[in-house]
Amino acid sequence: MGTKVRGLALPMLFLGGALGLQSGIVVAGEEAKGSGAHWGYEGETGPANWGKMGFPACAEGKNQSPIDINAAAEVTLDPIRFDYKPAPLQVVNNGHTIQFNLPPGSTITIGGKSFTLAQFHFHGGSEHTVKGKGFPMELHLVHKAEDGELAVVGILLAAAESESAPVGHGAAANPTLERVFGALPAMAGLTLTSDQQIDPAALLPHDRAYFHYKGSLTTPPCSEGVNWFVMGEPVTITRKQLLHYASVFDNNARPPQPLHSRNLYHGGKGGAAAAGH
Ligand SMILES: [Zn+2]
Repeated sequence: MGTKVRGLALPMLFLGGALGLQSGIVVAGEEAKGSGAHWGYEGETGPANWGKMGFPACAEGKNQSPIDINAAAEVTLDPIRFDYKPAPLQVVNNGHTIQFNLPPGSTITIGGKSFTLAQFHFHGGSEHTVKGKGFPMELHLVHKAEDGELAVVGILLAAAESESAPVGHGAAANPTLERVFGALPAMAGLTLTSDQQIDPAALLPHDRAYFHYKGSLTTPPCSEGVNWFVMGEPVTITRKQLLHYASVFDNNARPPQPLHSRNLYHGGKGGAAAAGH
């Protein structure tokens, strides 16, 4: 697989213990170092209580993400121009998700503004829903502009009919997803570095029409001012890949939040032509 362990945030004593456990454990790797509370996805530390845990925007914000995608206004939106390049990945299990960090070089351009792809990560199940229907997983590609503004491209992942069914927009299992999922560190605090080149463009759906709204981070501190672009066409993944992810995280999805007075737009057709792959 070409991955190697590069660094461990956990003490070896704990790692030794964790190695003997089943996957699916969630350890507060990053919180242990920071001042944040130990937020999670279930029970007392779950999404309904994040506001009480020192993250007021999660409860009081009126522009929160995710949302249910429903009744979008059909408008003319600029296509997203994807200029993604293959790059080696650094894979981090931060206890809340598995994050794939990229070196600078991949960008999107929307309305003349450029955002650099910093990382992508997964949620299981999906965070955005479509007319009340959830998907098994969701991929978030997180981009940052020079002025610090964030743009997240969300891709809903749908399960193939059978374990061995074809996936994605090809006839075989999406080889990029296969490679990405082959490097999931099961333990929080674990960082892997892959020497393989991963092309993030291969994770995109063929149709580049998208839904757009102004939202937030979907994890504490739930900061607002995030530009969301949720692709209308889901990408299909195999049941085997789903089970593999679920063995590491069986639930890391915030439920949909009220739209309040925001607008949801749908458009951007023609983006595939500008995709550059
Ligand atoms: Zn996310």
